[in-house]
Amino acid sequence: MKKDDKLPGHSRRDFMKGFSLVLGTTALGVPLLSLGSCQPGSAENTHNQAEQSNRQSKKLGVALVGLGYYSTNQLAPALQETNDCYLAGIVTGTPSKAEEWKSKYNIPDKNIYNYETFDQIKDNPDIDIIYIVLPNALHAEYTIRAANAKKDVICEKPMATSVEDCQRMIDACRQNNVKLSIGYRLHFEPHNLRVMELGQKQVFGKVKQVKTENGFVANNANMWRLDKELAGGGPLMDMGIYCVQGACYTLGQTPVAVTAKFGEVTRPEVFDEVEQSISWQMQFPNGVIADCNTSYNQNVGYLYGEAQNGWWRLEPAYGYGGIKGETSKGPMNLPNVNQQALQMDAFANCVLHNKESIVPGEMGLRDVRILMAIYEAARTGKSVKV
Ligand code: NAD
Repeated sequence: MKKDDKLPGHSRRDFMKGFSLVLGTTALGVPLLSLGSCQPGSAENTHNQAEQSNRQSKKLGVALVGLGYYSTNQLAPALQETNDCYLAGIVTGTPSKAEEWKSKYNIPDKNIYNYETFDQIKDNPDIDIIYIVLPNALHAEYTIRAANAKKDVICEKPMATSVEDCQRMIDACRQNNVKLSIGYRLHFEPHNLRVMELGQKQVFGKVKQVKTENGFVANNANMWRLDKELAGGGPLMDMGIYCVQGACYTLGQTPVAVTAKFGEVTRPEVFDEVEQSISWQMQFPNGVIADCNTSYNQNVGYLYGEAQNGWWRLEPAYGYGGIKGETSKGPMNLPNVNQQALQMDAFANCVLHNKESIVPGEMGLRDVRILMAIYEAARTGKSVKV
């Protein structure tokens, strides 16, 4: 975290204490307003008491699985800023990366694994949490293997490439009595938290409209994000999921139906497997329509909401930092924070105190269900129920 990102005189923990409210849950158990860092845990999801009190006296060890862009540039640095967990181990298929990380982060040899030795993590007491940061189609396999190793799991977004895989992941975690959280870092970001509050608490009256776009220009034609098998789809899976999330947490609701249309393909040599762009509308139970768009051919990222007596807009809305917000009353004047550090500390706290994550597997599944409905709507040209 950049030093000037810190609130003067406040730790991140103090800041998040100001946002410690959770307002009820949906039928799926998904929080309506995720302004807290944990929900009460279920009885069957409890580590035994001795283990629990032992855990409470130490920082939890996190093992990152997949040392690509996100692990290298965001998660590992964030783990140097966390209070309740630390970078204890790595899983990589590249021996040179193992050497590099070992010396950079002082990781002992016994905490370094590859994809073949992965399952041996079950015997390693240094590792409490396994964080899956692999291409989307590999999330299910490694989350299930992590759960079978009896480790609590954070899985990156999108949770998986099918609803069935999401369910298998949830079931495996439940059967092994471990917790599952999705890497939805914006639930720990002050501007996005403010939007949840403005929308869900109807600060400016009833919400009338949500509009959101997210995308970037994909120049590297070789990346797995363009490989349908590994990515599960194009920008919708990667960037559009933020719009789905943004609309859902503005309203505190899950859409009941979607319509969608694939965008024009102007670079067919690059977009021969996945969509280049897609626009869609989500219809919510309260009648609000969210208008959304995502693209691998446009740098864009905003979240706009309009209510009876005012409006708000975040732009950029979904980045790691530099988020800016204003409302019809003026600038939001909120700090940028280390989202990933807050997100991982929040999960460590859930594990330490036997609470459920506010961004649980059920929320990841809900979102993948919505993404699949959007694809079906675009393919068929029909409105699809979620
Ligand atoms: P990346 O391509 O930079 O890294 C992927 C890693 O997986 C690489 O180290 C690669 O070696 C490894 N890997 C293992 N098996 C592989 C295989 N069969 N094919 C390809 N790579 C394989 O990707 P990334 O940007 O770090 O994204 C990883 C995950 O993190 C994705 O699910 C992505 O959606 C998610 N992500 C989330 C955020 C966020 O803000 N929450 C940001 C970036 C990425």
